[in-house]
Amino acid sequence: VVGGIAYSGYVLWDARHPPLQAPFDPEKKTIVILGSGWGSTSLLKSIDTDLYNVVVVSPRNYFLFTPLLPSCTVGTVDIRSIVEPTRFITRHKTREVKVFEAECTEIDPVNKTVTIADNSEIKGSVNTSTIPYDYLVIGVGATNQTFGIKGVQEHALFLKEVWDAQKIRTRLMDCIETAGFPEQAPEEIDRLLHMIVVGGGPTGVEYAAELHDFLVEDLTTWYPELAGKLKITLIEALPNVLPAFSKQLIDYTEASFKEQNITIHTKTMVKEVHDKDITIQQADGSLAKMPYGLLVWATGNTSRPVVRNLMSKFPATQKVGRGLVVDDWMRMEGSDDIYAIGDASASKYAPTAQVASQQGKYLARLFSQLALRDHLEQDIAAMTNEEEKQSKLRRLAKVRNVKPFHYSHQGSLAYIGSDKAIADLPWGSGNVASGGVATYVFWRSVYLSNLFSLRNRSLVATDWIKKNVLGRDISR
Ligand code: FAD
Ligand code: NAD
Repeated sequence: VVGGIAYSGYVLWDARHPPLQAPFDPEKKTIVILGSGWGSTSLLKSIDTDLYNVVVVSPRNYFLFTPLLPSCTVGTVDIRSIVEPTRFITRHKTREVKVFEAECTEIDPVNKTVTIADNSEIKGSVNTSTIPYDYLVIGVGATNQTFGIKGVQEHALFLKEVWDAQKIRTRLMDCIETAGFPEQAPEEIDRLLHMIVVGGGPTGVEYAAELHDFLVEDLTTWYPELAGKLKITLIEALPNVLPAFSKQLIDYTEASFKEQNITIHTKTMVKEVHDKDITIQQADGSLAKMPYGLLVWATGNTSRPVVRNLMSKFPATQKVGRGLVVDDWMRMEGSDDIYAIGDASASKYAPTAQVASQQGKYLARLFSQLALRDHLEQDIAAMTNEEEKQSKLRRLAKVRNVKPFHYSHQGSLAYIGSDKAIADLPWGSGNVASGGVATYVFWRSVYLSNLFSLRNRSLVATDWIKKNVLGRDISR
């Protein structure tokens, strides 16, 4: 009986699709949300569609759980397990949310419109459009920082999107299979099996860790003659990896990488990238060449072209840099109706999923308050009774007093290979730093519970079991 009730409940909950939702209301204001990542999806989840019309524009029609993306590069987790279609989220809304798979190419803050372009490979008869907004939320994230270093765009692979993980996996298997080609020259085998990761931030470290696990747990079995020749090198410009973590955890990670035969070159800068080697500047200032088969570039973020273009329209308040300058209410400096969240904004916080999702949730509350403010203002303007008017004015004063965004840091976690993870947690009166296998179990449980849906959680749990029982898939 309980199961039957639960199932009926699920069917009813699941059944809300656009035909059953309220249509757009011309009387309501329209919020256009750019992006379907951490910030935008968190806003979308919480926004009250009774109060607004909502339009989402994003070149990908899904949310991606980035913390598990490094695991997809070697097949520990399947990509499909960590994405959630945006329409699975909007179907739970009371009012229809329009979702356009398109890239925003230009923002016109004067006419309050955005230009969008169809980014799919198949083109229809119309490929661009203009959408008006009352409020615009920019959650377009950031793009890969290359510092303009020659050859990076052409030869390196990045790790930000689903297709990046797929490219890395294909390239890795290509390198291994080509190294195994009959009579391959020994120096060419060494080059092909040299995997270089540039950038010792969490992305670079987690990727190197996953690659190591793949090598030890799978390649040694399937390619015994090659596995011993595969080398992993991590290059970091600063004196140590993971600069945002505590000294104890940095030391722990570096020692753990040493044990895992991952070579770390700190105080080393990549100066130029060619198709088969990179030029590095070592700590003593000397230049050297390093051949590679696979090069993964993870040196952080920079703002996207659409954001840079918008910055140039606000020369007094926006300086072209890491992201859009915002006030404590996530409102873009220089505008009253444009908001920026997550990696697209340049606030005092690090560009992390945690920050982006809290900012998205905050904006949903702020928009509810703005709707109430507008409603009260309209009511008051139409009121004749002075006593009632005074009471509403007092309420309006409270509503107008919107609290600024407050970030609550839950700690930082990173996977470092061989079933070990590190955790910097702000618990109790100070920070708790921990590393090792128990932390790895904690890491897994945190990621599992933070995954977007029950569907994602069950898929990832199955992937982990599958990997342990059957090993990873080594096909290209
Ligand atoms: P994103 O999540 O990047 O989303 C941006 C969205 O905008 C995407 O949907 C994109 O398609 C869309 N978009 C792009 N261009 C346009 C355009 N022109 N018009 C419209 N839409 C556009 N952070 C953590 O806190 N913990 C972690 O463990 C962690 N692990 C990570 C692992 C990896 C491999 C990476 C790359 C990052 C990780 N991060 C982690 C950082 C975290 O993913 C980012 O800080 C977070 O994604 C930022 O959220 P966002 O919404 O600003 O941008
Ligand atoms: P990052 O900015 O954190 O690290 C990039 C690293 O590359 C820096 O340490 C920098 O010194 C180095 N670097 C820059 N130029 C270089 C060069 N030419 N040669 C060698 N090294 C160079 O970038 P990231 O690791 O991609 O992380 C981006 C954001 O996402 C951060 O805020 C991070 O906290 C977050 N993130 C978090 C996790 C996690 O919590 N597990 C995982 C991935 C990303």
